[in-house]
Amino acid sequence: MPKILITDKNRKFIVKDENKDVHTNFGMITAEDIKKAKPGDKVKSNKDYVFSVSEADFIDLYRKIKRSAQIIPLKDIGFIITETGLNKKSVIIEAGAGSGALGCFLAMICKKVYSYEIRQDFYELVKKNISYLSLKNIAVKNKDAKIGFDETDVDVVILDLADPWELVEQSRKALKIGGFLVSYSPTIPQVMDLTDRLGEDFTYIKTSEIMEREWEINKRKVRPKSQAIGHSGFLSFARRIK
Ligand code: SAH
Repeated sequence: MPKILITDKNRKFIVKDENKDVHTNFGMITAEDIKKAKPGDKVKSNKDYVFSVSEADFIDLYRKIKRSAQIIPLKDIGFIITETGLNKKSVIIEAGAGSGALGCFLAMICKKVYSYEIRQDFYELVKKNISYLSLKNIAVKNKDAKIGFDETDVDVVILDLADPWELVEQSRKALKIGGFLVSYSPTIPQVMDLTDRLGEDFTYIKTSEIMEREWEINKRKVRPKSQAIGHSGFLSFARRIK
C-alpha cells in the first residue's frame, strides 16, 4: 500500500511515487523525507505545515477512484451489506457498473462480483478502477444486462440503472432460490414499476431511504452541519422464492 500524508485538518494526500516530491496546497514535501518516513512519523513541507505519515488503507484509495456516472454513496452501500448479510462466501451480480464504485467496494466484502456495463467508456473506466484498487475478484463485462446474466445460483443481484423492472426476470434466473434482489433508484415511480413486476417469483421485503446527518463538533459549536448530502436513492429489497 502507498503512504498517505495527513494534515491536522484531515486533508489527505496519497503518495503515488516515493521517488517524486509531493506538491500540495500546503506546500511541497521532498521525496527524500517521504522515503525515510515510517508510519507515525511527521514530515514538514517547505511552507512549514506538518503532515503525519501512515499507510493508505482501502478506503483512502477508494475515495480517489475515477468517477463517471453518479456513484452510490457509502451510507447506501452499508445498508445493502447489512440487509442482505453479504459476506466472504457471497457471489453477486451488479448492473450497471457505472464507475464501479459499488462493485469495487463489495469486492472487498464478497467472494466474487460480476459486474455488467453497457457503455464501452464506462466499462474501460471500471477496469481502471479495479486495477487501481488491486482487486482480483471482480469481473466486469461490457454487456447489456437485459440480454441476461451468464451466472446462475448467485446470492445477490443489485440493480442500479434507470429501468430495473426490465431486469426482474433476468435477475430471477441468475439468483439462487432465497437470493436477494436489490434495486437502487432515485425516484418512487421506478420503485413502483419494479415492485409491480416482482410477481409470484419474489417476496417483496421493503423499500428504505437512508439519511445521514453529520454534525459539526467545534468547541461549543456542536450542531448538525449546515451543508448536508441531499437525497440519493431508494433501496428496494426482494427475495426469490420460486
Ligand atoms: N452503482 C454505480 C453507478 C451506476 S450508474 C456506481 O456506484 O458507480 C448506472 C449505469 O448503468 C450506467 O453506467 C449505465 O451505462 C449502466 N446501464 C444502463 N442500462 C444498462 C444495461 N441494460 N446493462 C448494463 N448496464 C446498463
